[in-house]
Amino acid sequence: MTLLLKNAIYLDWESLALIPGDIAVEQGPRGGISFDLPPQAPERVIDCRGKLVTKSFGCGHHHIYSTLARGMPAPRRIPTSFSEILEYIWWHIDKRLDLEMITASALASAIYCAKNGVTFIIDHHASPFAVEGSLNAIAEAFERVGLGYLLCYEISDRDGEGPREAGLAETDAYLAGGRPGHVGLHASFTVGDPLLDSAAALACKHNTGIHIHVAEDRADQEDARAKYGLGVVERLEAHGVLALEKTILAHCIHLSDRERQMVSQSGVWVVQNVESNLNNNVGTTGYADLGERVMLGTDGMHSDMLRSAKAAFLNGQATEGVGFDAVYRRFRNVHRHILQCGAPGDSANNLVILDYDTPTEVTSDNFPGHFVFGLDARHVESVIAQGRLIVENRRVITVAEAEVMAYAREMGRKLWEKL
Ligand SMILES: [Zn+2]
Repeated sequence: MTLLLKNAIYLDWESLALIPGDIAVEQGPRGGISFDLPPQAPERVIDCRGKLVTKSFGCGHHHIYSTLARGMPAPRRIPTSFSEILEYIWWHIDKRLDLEMITASALASAIYCAKNGVTFIIDHHASPFAVEGSLNAIAEAFERVGLGYLLCYEISDRDGEGPREAGLAETDAYLAGGRPGHVGLHASFTVGDPLLDSAAALACKHNTGIHIHVAEDRADQEDARAKYGLGVVERLEAHGVLALEKTILAHCIHLSDRERQMVSQSGVWVVQNVESNLNNNVGTTGYADLGERVMLGTDGMHSDMLRSAKAAFLNGQATEGVGFDAVYRRFRNVHRHILQCGAPGDSANNLVILDYDTPTEVTSDNFPGHFVFGLDARHVESVIAQGRLIVENRRVITVAEAEVMAYAREMGRKLWEKL
């Protein structure tokens, strides 16, 4: 099936060239677009007069498992440190998740992403007592909504041998099944040397990288120095993780100068999640010296990548004096990572139709200024993923939104009763 977007103004996401005209959109996970009329009559024509059409967005680090936490009862104790936030909130929740709750979380997150123009999610999942089948459940939910993905299970030693071995087995089975992803690890302070070696070997076996939280809080560095006499990045390097170029290091806040240099000189990817860092009060950092492979994520806080880009810009004024162009580049680097991983679902036929009501002219030169100060999620009118219309006039049309949200609320109640 082909879609034809009539009278659009196409913004090329790389060159920022503005091309007025009609866009023919091919369907399929690796489909393209063309500015010539398709040979057969299109099956659907959308009038885009006055609208900006550009590549849709991707999230470099998400946690769909956190979806049912919104509005949950207060923890038994108010956390006073990052390790207590994990212990009393996130680890308390993820241990109580079952496959139904995971499916509800994935569907609801996918709807939020789609409505915000995000058609590809790189997720980091945890459910230590519902590990088996969890990644395929998330993949199927994302496919129902129409999103592309790279998934992983965050394996760790924190809950002992059972969940650790289940995490390795789930990762191996999921990747062997042919769906795309990484080998997930929680963080250095919850991963012993034998597990780190097993995970690196598994990533080599499946020709992928490790996806891990790195020095999010100072305590991660203190733990690595006390136990291994190394910084977190030095430890990862010693176990071969930096040699895997599809590796994603989330956060990288408390690195030494030497470690910052190691990251920038390696081929690995870094994800900045500034709103989550502010929420957890773990500190923030600049990313300009960490190389060209810096992406943006939400860390499960929300599913709005335009919001993440604005936060990176605002916080980046204090930490690194970041410019519009650099933030835009980081926002778009996720596509370069997905391409390197060879994952389907992010080719040229992933598009957002933006009803951008600007009081000033948009040009190729000034677009990054509009990106930071003007454009936001409310401008996302319709979304095309893999050549298929998935959001039309701000409503998801691939699944019944109201039914999914009712199911999510039911699963939320089930989860909260167990907390
Ligand atoms: Zn995270």
